[in-house]
Amino acid sequence: MAYQCRDCSFKRKGAFLNGKCPACGSFNIAGGQVAKNDADSNGNKKWRLVVLALLWVTLFVLLFQKIQS
Ligand SMILES: [Zn+2]
Repeated sequence: MAYQCRDCSFKRKGAFLNGKCPACGSFNIAGGQVAKNDADSNGNKKWRLVVLALLWVTLFVLLFQKIQS
């Protein structure tokens, strides 16, 4: 994930050392952490939906078997 300084728009792939822009010394850094967290929570949301759907299917299968027997 790329980081970018908001003051001088200096860009770097990894995190800035000490959270400080090496070009101008600013601590006003954008990117990286926030975007990564968003992607993670979206991934978790997807998996939660899959698990929820599986649980509902299991519930209906068990109910159906109970009705049949
Ligand atoms: Zn900078």
